Amino acid sequence: MKLHFLGANRQVTGSRYLLEAAGKRIMIDCGMFQERKFQSRNYEPPPVDLNTVDYLLLTHAHLDHCGLIPRMVKRGYKNPIITVDPSADLAEIIMLDSAKIQVEDAKYKLKRHLKQGKKSKFGYEPLYTVEDAQEAVKLIEPVAFHEPVQLGDSITATFHESGHILGSAFIEININENGNKQTLVMSGDIGQWNKPLINDPELFNRADYIVMESTYGDRLHKDSGPIEDQLADIINDTVQRGGNIIIPTFAVERAQELVYFVGQLAKADRIPDIGVYLDSPMATRVTKVFHRWCKYLDEEARCTPGGRKGADVLKFDGFKLVSATEDSIALNTLKGPNVIMSSSGMCTGGRIKHHLKNNITRHDSTIVFVGYQAEGTLGRIISNGANEVRIHGQNFPVNAKIAHLHGLSAHGDSEDLLRWLSNCNTPPKQLFLTHGEARGADALSKVIKSELGWNVSVPEYQDVVELG
Ligand SMILES: [Zn+2]
Repeated sequence: MKLHFLGANRQVTGSRYLLEAAGKRIMIDCGMFQERKFQSRNYEPPPVDLNTVDYLLLTHAHLDHCGLIPRMVKRGYKNPIITVDPSADLAEIIMLDSAKIQVEDAKYKLKRHLKQGKKSKFGYEPLYTVEDAQEAVKLIEPVAFHEPVQLGDSITATFHESGHILGSAFIEININENGNKQTLVMSGDIGQWNKPLINDPELFNRADYIVMESTYGDRLHKDSGPIEDQLADIINDTVQRGGNIIIPTFAVERAQELVYFVGQLAKADRIPDIGVYLDSPMATRVTKVFHRWCKYLDEEARCTPGGRKGADVLKFDGFKLVSATEDSIALNTLKGPNVIMSSSGMCTGGRIKHHLKNNITRHDSTIVFVGYQAEGTLGRIISNGANEVRIHGQNFPVNAKIAHLHGLSAHGDSEDLLRWLSNCNTPPKQLFLTHGEARGADALSKVIKSELGWNVSVPEYQDVVELG
């Protein structure tokens, strides 16, 4: 019985593991490497033969967990991809969107290199195409939460809620290798407790081995007060000034959370009647998945058979989903004030750039940041307080007010991660920390060793450990 660590080791993207047990080879997640210095791994031949993999289990639909699946299919993988119902729908959206980006990026890179006389080490073929992503979608076999899935005669996998995004799971894998019984728990990404729309993470009471993410292993989320209060202040202040509220947002989960919070404020008359737009074809599709799978949502939004249409919390007077390009352009001509949410979340591309161009020079508008802005992104530059920014090759003075909404992280902090382990009544033989920078993983490792006395390690890329 062996576990290979094939990504998200001492870094936060590219989640990928291979379990060899009871004659089966099971991959858990197959995510894209997104940090610049690790991106070459997306192109390099994988460290293990993917065509001998029998099953691929997917914890959730974020790109850093599913983004290399079409690449794997392009290389010949033809076996089942098993994930829970909502993740099946979301992974389809994410993989198809990613395929389009891959094709565009490859074309752009070729054009740029021809101009600069450069040559790419990995050539100019896209990582994968829309057709590869469509082939991957055909292999997806959706399952329900809590129902053990048989993988051959001797292994079962059960998906449990991890509270991170809609459909996110941690996976309990029970192995019986010639009478040697072992339980392995793979965390995927763990969310926060008491979030709207998404269920709290479930707990488990035993495992021989645990692989746990550590994104915020060295941090506690700052308590900046209830989201509704922060948001109401920002909206009311901007409405008084007569401007628009522009919110760059991620299309999955964050966008729906924002719609929920703005909707709550509108329904409680805590903000005036203004137009609220979610301008993103992808966020529109994702919101439809929330409606389709509302039975998996948290209590306040959950639908019941023949009863309440729970996901209606994502509908309210004045709110519109915007998908068509002409409808997006029409937003430019609206008389304010309006709330316009659009992607991408870090302002690196997409429709948000148009809304920024139309509002960033206006003293009466506000740009609201609702999540982490990676270094070098336009979002980071604006959020850091630049006086002037370049958008679509043109310089614009930043006159708009810049605001930050705190507390919307989809990842639990170090206390949440400890809480997720807290129900384990006997120590595992080993806890492996992954999906975190070395600093976060090491800090969390120290805390767990001293508080729980467990064996903890932080594996390196391509480490292989013997289980048993
Ligand atoms: Zn995630």
